[in-house]
Amino acid sequence: MAECPVCGAEVELAADAVVGELMECADCGAELEVLEVEPPALGEAPETEEDWGQ
Ligand SMILES: [Zn+2]
Repeated sequence: MAECPVCGAEVELAADAVVGELMECADCGAELEVLEVEPPALGEAPETEEDWGQ
C-alpha cells in the first residue's frame, strides 16, 4: 500500500507496477506516478499533455 499524496488515501499498487507508471487514485481521482515500488511510494503525476513522444 502507498499513500496518495493528494488526499492521503491508501492506494494499492498493481502487483506488476513499475517505477514511472501512472495510475489514478480511486479516492480523489488524482493522477499519480509510481515513484518507488519497494517500498511503494506515489507522487503526483506531472501535468499530462499529448506529448508522449521522445
Ligand atoms: Zn487521492
